[in-house]
Amino acid sequence: MKIVTLAGGVGGAKLADGLAQLLPPENLTIVVNTGDDFEHLGLYISPDLDTVCYTLAGLANPETGWGRREETFHVLENLQELGGPDWFRLGDRDLATHIERTRRLREGQSLSLITRDFCQAWGVRQPVLPMSDQPVRTMVDTEDGELAFQEYFVHRKCEPKVKGFRFAGIATALPATGVLEAIEHADGIVVCPSNPWVSIDPILAVAGIRSALAAKLVVAVSPIIGGQTVKGPAAKMYTELGVQPSALAITCHYGKILSGFVLDRVDAKFAQNISIPTCVTNILMKNQDDRRSLAQDVLNLIQTL
Ligand code: GDP
Ligand code: CA
Repeated sequence: MKIVTLAGGVGGAKLADGLAQLLPPENLTIVVNTGDDFEHLGLYISPDLDTVCYTLAGLANPETGWGRREETFHVLENLQELGGPDWFRLGDRDLATHIERTRRLREGQSLSLITRDFCQAWGVRQPVLPMSDQPVRTMVDTEDGELAFQEYFVHRKCEPKVKGFRFAGIATALPATGVLEAIEHADGIVVCPSNPWVSIDPILAVAGIRSALAAKLVVAVSPIIGGQTVKGPAAKMYTELGVQPSALAITCHYGKILSGFVLDRVDAKFAQNISIPTCVTNILMKNQDDRRSLAQDVLNLIQTL
């Protein structure tokens, strides 16, 4: 079975890793949000792409879910001493990724080509594709005005109340090489339990991606369990936008594109109100086994559709 999965950072990477444990590498393609990308200290940072790649490579920090394991922060500490900006934490090993990616982008190489080469160096065998090679920047409209995504997410710790989102650059962004082909050849599309507003919506907004999904079996896993997020601001965003956060809200969010939905046992009561086939299971991924067993449940649901 050939699967394409749409992923943000931490939640996306965990399920992609579970799928990678079950499928031959050539049967899994991961399409990753780049709306969080930004320039910092003169470097091009692509947080979700790196989280997915580090996770698949076994290089991710197991405590945080992002950044690298066995990381040190000597550069950041010295930067702090000099009074430089230290609100975005970049580890020493991680910095090498950003330095080399920035160097190659400045030479005119595409983000997808650079990602392919990095994956090869890290031993990641699944194709990991940025959603687009053109810059798309998520902007968060808040009661304090419009903020660039990392300014909202990291610097302001998601505190300002959200009023809406804008994906700057989306009008001219094309899917990266291989994205539409992978979707076309897939037997199923898995929408990871990533933030719908700022991780999945940007991918769906890239020209041609949503319409390519219309002809496909699309299954989503809820990022909301018992009305709450496992991590991050998705539930807070729903509340601030006037929607009660729940597994049901996620199905409404994705609407017509979904053919199946996976929700947690604690949310089993919602299943009867969802008009598409569902799978009720444990969707909290605390370890490798949880990742693999959730991935298996997702594949089983796709098979029954
Ligand atoms: P980010 O880019 O690092 O913020 O990560 P994502 O957008 O991929 O994921 C954030 C979402 O993942 C949040 O809404 C979390 O609730 C959800 N999430 C994180 N871990 C898990 C998990 O183990 N199970 C489920 N179902 N959702 C999770
Ligand atoms: Ca992200």
